[in-house]
Amino acid sequence: MEDILKVGVLTSGGDAPGMNAAIRAVVRTALNRGMEAYGIRRGYQGMIEGDIIKMDSASVSGIIQKGGTILQTARCMEFLTYEGRKKGYDQLHSFGIDAVIVIGGDGSFTGASIMSKEFDIPFIGIPGTIDNDLYGTDYTIGFDTALNTVVHAVDNIRDTASSHGRIFFVEVMGKEAGFVALQSGIASGAEGILIPEEKGQIEKLRKYLAERARLKKSSIILVAEGEDEGGAIAIANKIKTEFPSFDIRTTILGHIQRGGSPSAYDRVSASRMGVAAIEALIDDQKSIMVGLVNGEIVHVPLNKTIKLHKDVSRDLLAIADLLI
Ligand code: ATP
Repeated sequence: MEDILKVGVLTSGGDAPGMNAAIRAVVRTALNRGMEAYGIRRGYQGMIEGDIIKMDSASVSGIIQKGGTILQTARCMEFLTYEGRKKGYDQLHSFGIDAVIVIGGDGSFTGASIMSKEFDIPFIGIPGTIDNDLYGTDYTIGFDTALNTVVHAVDNIRDTASSHGRIFFVEVMGKEAGFVALQSGIASGAEGILIPEEKGQIEKLRKYLAERARLKKSSIILVAEGEDEGGAIAIANKIKTEFPSFDIRTTILGHIQRGGSPSAYDRVSASRMGVAAIEALIDDQKSIMVGLVNGEIVHVPLNKTIKLHKDVSRDLLAIADLLI
């Protein structure tokens, strides 16, 4: 390991609460292990532009409770090209950075994996996305906070829905994955959960509306944005025409789900993964993601997390069905 003296850290893709706790853990562990730590601002864009700052212990003080990412994040098209990645490598080289910790989702890990093969520089991934849709880890940073934000919002909607006897379609994040909708649906006692992974839920919803909705004071239907029928507005419009006597409303929670102070669970898990990422470098690992499986730290090849698909839990789907 004596080769790695300067480690860079960046956040990339969508921001997620808890990323700051991971940055803090990476920086402080690196310093404690005798390395220098560098913050690469705005993800791969900042790498290409050399927007890189040396970090000391004080530079990550007072950030653990903050949402978003102090390093900022970006989506960088130039990094999709060899020329872009070469510019990034040249910048890293000019700062003497010999390993990079990437906090992000599968797109960010794809970029890391390609660059590490082209330029022989170790990359370690830390899963940071509110969607929780990465293969090889039970949990991604930000998911727990996003769930709590959604549950809090749905509890509020429930108050007004039951006062007026309304049916609310609530759209939550998840273009390709229904993890947020499924777990927040269970946690908020939703009467329907529509997610991209599970077909036939709309038929169950119709049956529920026809047979049981009138018996309840209110109904909340959680819809993942990537659901097949086209999102909450499209589904609500369709259902309105089929059930004209119901008072139906729609709420799209949107970016409120990304922000906010991270939950204790997100802070602790992000801290564990940040420490594990530096320990992995010390152990000569490269092109891996650190993750959490059954509460324990695991190392997963970046290639696997990119290529393989994480399924929603059949157990949770069954529980959601049983409890409606
Ligand atoms: P989220 O799950 O929050 O969307 P993500 O990491 O998947 O996070 P993306 O926008 O897909 O977010 O990717 C982030 C950045 O990673 C991209 O803007 C780009 O710079 C880089 N990236 C993504 N895919 C590739 C690729 N195939 N080759 C090189 N770089 C890539």
